[in-house]
Order: sequence, then structure tokens, then C-alpha cells
Amino acid sequence: MIAIGGGGYVPARILRSFLKQPGSTNIPIQAIGLSLYETLPANKASKEGTSTPPVVDRDIEEPGTKVTRTQWLDLSALGEMDNLVGKRVLIVDEVDDTRTTLEYAVKELEKDVEAARARVGGEAAQFSIFVLHNKNKVKKGSIPGNMVEEGRYVAARTVGEEWICYPWEAVDIDEHDRLAAAQKASGAQQQ
Ligand code: 5GP
Repeated sequence: MIAIGGGGYVPARILRSFLKQPGSTNIPIQAIGLSLYETLPANKASKEGTSTPPVVDRDIEEPGTKVTRTQWLDLSALGEMDNLVGKRVLIVDEVDDTRTTLEYAVKELEKDVEAARARVGGEAAQFSIFVLHNKNKVKKGSIPGNMVEEGRYVAARTVGEEWICYPWEAVDIDEHDRLAAAQKASGAQQQ
């Protein structure tokens, strides 16, 4: 499995328990870090400190359209990439929103594993995707059509455009649970 951090870490770990076959070893989980960054206008960026990418003149991008790698697999000769050659690889993230991140992850992983295969030989790797939530919307990014047709894209839930607050993001889990219960109750009342 390859978990896209940080949202994919907890789902990947949970999934590992469900995918474990009796008598076999645990499925290894590797991590990549991807973030959609946004470039802000110069005056806003300078007000908000240094956590945004450098602003180049006229280099203003749509928010959340460009993926940056914060962590990647080891590309060295005996590294993690070679181990993926010929394997079935499940990419795990928490949510498929615009699909930009998943498009990037699939394309770049396929490219790097193919490069490793050219070096060490062997079968092509086969990639699949698991997300907890897929937002039902027009996507900016795309994934290979055959991935969907062959059932290699699985979303546990398909949801609307709402923002999802995951428990592992909560600083105060009791508050998170309280708000979740209140939302569930108000949803039940409306039905
Ligand atoms: P993308 O737009 O590339 O599909 O998603 C990029 C990232 O935005 C996701 O991996 C996730 O970290 C974050 N994201 C998108 N929608 C939500 C949401 O509803 N809740 C949370 N917590 N994160 C989200």
C-alpha cells in the first residue's frame, strides 16, 4: 500500500487489518507526502508569513491546482521503487475531491515504477485506488479509465460537496464527537 499523507495514513493502517490474510505477513505501507499549494498575491503572502511558496511576478495560480511533493519513495537502485515492480499497489487517501492529488500520484508512481522496471526487469505494477470519500462533482484531475472499469478505484462513500472533518484531524476529539453527533441528529430530524 502507498498512503498519501497525511490523510491517507490512518485509513491505510485500518485497511491493512482488513486485507490481512491468515498466515501471511502484514501488507507493507509506504508513505508519500503530497500537498496542493496555492500561490497568494504578494501583499497577502507577506502578511501571512513564509508558509506559502515564493511569489514570482504574475505567477498567480488557482488555489489548489498544483501538487508539490513533500515526501516521496526512495528512487535508489535497491530502494522502495524496485520493490513495487510486478506488484499490485493500492494507493490510499482519505478523500477524492478535485482528483488533482490522485492524478498526480498515479502518474508519477507509474512513471517511477516503470523506470525501475526498465532497470531491474519484471512485470508491470498494477495500481488501484482506495479512498474513504469521493466527492460527487466534476473533477479537475483524471485517473486512467481502465482503473475505474476494472474496479480498481474504490470509494467507501460517495458524498456531496461538503467539507469533511476527520477525527484524526481533531485537536479536541470530544468536541469533534459532539459536533458529529449534533450534525447526525439534525440530519435525522430533517428526514
Ligand atoms: P484533491 O482536490 O486533490 O482531490 O484533494 C486534495 C486534498 O485536499 C485531499 O487529499 C485532502 O487532504 C484535502 N481535502 C479535500 N477535501 C477535503 C475535505 O472535505 N476534508 C478534509 N479534511 N480534507 C479535504
